[in-house]
Amino acid sequence: MPGIFIDIEVDEAVASDAELAQKLSEVCAVDIFALRNGKLEIIEDNLDECVLCDLCIEAAPKGALRVIKLYE
Ligand code: SF4
Repeated sequence: MPGIFIDIEVDEAVASDAELAQKLSEVCAVDIFALRNGKLEIIEDNLDECVLCDLCIEAAPKGALRVIKLYE
């Protein structure tokens, strides 16, 4: 199920970078990122667990990953 409160957008260059996908899966404490078949997978069921720590944003190239709050 997609997140109600949080969505995450990643550029294709990030999604297809296995090394970066692995790094993202390590930094996110709530398991929103996984590496599957050499590509980044976003685990939609976990999106709303995001704690807005920004570690994924810091791990990715500038502007290539966005955590979007769907609420005010
Ligand atoms: S902001 Fe933190 S909790 Fe949210 S997806 Fe990124 S690393 Fe995970």
